[in-house]
Amino acid sequence: MIGGIYARSSLGKIKQGDTVKHQVQMIQEYAKRMEFNVSFDEKFIYPDDGESGFKTTLLQRPPMKQLLEDIDSGLIDIVFFKGISRFARDSGEAIQTSKRLIQKGVRVISIEENYDSDVSDPTFFQMYAVLAEAESRKTSIRVSLGNKQKSRNGLWAGSVPPFGYIKVKDITDKAKKEELISKGVHPQTLFPHPEKADIIKKIFDMYVNQGFGRKKIVNWVNSQGIKTQYGNKIGDITIKRILMNPAYIGVIVYGKTRYNYIDSDDGLRKIQKVINVDKEDWAICEDAHPPIIEREVFMKAQRLIKQKEKAFNKGRRFNNAKHPLTGLLKCSLCGAPMICQKRTNKKADGTKVTYRYYVCSTYHQKGRDVCPQANINADELEDYIHKQISQQIEKVKNDEYFLEGYATYNPNEEINSQIKVIDREIEKNTNKSLTLLENKDLYDDQTFRDLNLKLKEEIVRLRKQKDELMDELKFAEEIMTKDDLKAKFDEFLELNLSDISRTREVFHEWINEVRVEDKKVIIDQKFKMI
Ligand SMILES: [Zn+2]
Repeated sequence: MIGGIYARSSLGKIKQGDTVKHQVQMIQEYAKRMEFNVSFDEKFIYPDDGESGFKTTLLQRPPMKQLLEDIDSGLIDIVFFKGISRFARDSGEAIQTSKRLIQKGVRVISIEENYDSDVSDPTFFQMYAVLAEAESRKTSIRVSLGNKQKSRNGLWAGSVPPFGYIKVKDITDKAKKEELISKGVHPQTLFPHPEKADIIKKIFDMYVNQGFGRKKIVNWVNSQGIKTQYGNKIGDITIKRILMNPAYIGVIVYGKTRYNYIDSDDGLRKIQKVINVDKEDWAICEDAHPPIIEREVFMKAQRLIKQKEKAFNKGRRFNNAKHPLTGLLKCSLCGAPMICQKRTNKKADGTKVTYRYYVCSTYHQKGRDVCPQANINADELEDYIHKQISQQIEKVKNDEYFLEGYATYNPNEEINSQIKVIDREIEKNTNKSLTLLENKDLYDDQTFRDLNLKLKEEIVRLRKQKDELMDELKFAEEIMTKDDLKAKFDEFLELNLSDISRTREVFHEWINEVRVEDKKVIIDQKFKMI
């Protein structure tokens, strides 16, 4: 029998020859030990540069095409892989490839998985993939523990520092850098970036002292042509993240989230899920590096963010209230909330009529002497409010200029596609890392350590980048586009007032507060349309 060898030569082409040579030797020894009656020839060694492995399928790659051709020409009877799973993008592709080869009438042997097409079940590859994943998870846990330790020691664990900072080792002013290092500052410590730190100061100043909203700040930042560390346009959420990042007061916090692994729908793979970690388990280091923002200013910003979010969520707090205006309607005389009551009256002809009315809670509890507010018919008031707001909507709903003013860039779609790209990169690097681990014996210690560290750092950087994007997704729902706004308008106009619980939801979304003074209804709306 004539044997072909499909050999991997990945790892950035370093020591490529050695890798292939080693694999050939290993396969030949294996064949001998297993007593395969096979002879090998230089001509039938197919080295595959793993770099292209994620762009094309295994069957489309040039060395594989050559192998298939040679099989068709009857030159080869048996094909050896060191590990077919590592060539394929997933276990399914490994199965497909081996099937294709078997169809052509050859026997397929893959040493790493202990696979022999004459005896093994093809589902073997799925099992193998699960095991390989478990190994990569172990690696990532080791990396994250290392980062936690780094963070506790006040070092920035990510490869990219937060906007406005630079790592000491990357400072371009040599004298400054040497001065810091000679004082014992670690090269991985953060240091205010000579130009970008001022942008951070400006952002905090606008938010805390000048009363600018995040959208207004975004406009300013973009008018200055400032991009994120990853070269993206800065959005509303980036500003929020900046305003909430304790790194700007010299504090490092690491490990607020971690990954959990859940089964994919087909049960064949594990999927990463971000989960929040309890505060006591975070790694925190105070005074880790020079602050850019004074603590007082930073804390003020946190309070402002909370206040604004509270206002945004105000409507949701009253979800248990039964009636549309409970929680919104305040007594114009004493300021107390007005609550809803039902009353059933008997008409002269004996039929019963039930109606709802809002009553001041002070009056309700303490009597007319304390608050003489009159009761208000609920149906009438709700109907009046719906008409008032509907009129305003009709005036602006086709006004492009008005809609434009409300429309904001919706990053959701872009974020999702960025996350997908990062997931692929993570997978690619995890595979590289595994390959490296398997071939550890091919490298001297230093080379192995360097390559391994580089891969690990890259994976950590990618995970962090993914974390940030996942965070953005969490907040992105706050951002309203022009279409969202139009849909919201229609929803309000088409509201069926007899559906009390729906009316309650919508009213709470639209209204901050309602007061009735004499016969005048004063509506404080969340969406100002005038
Ligand atoms: Zn009252």
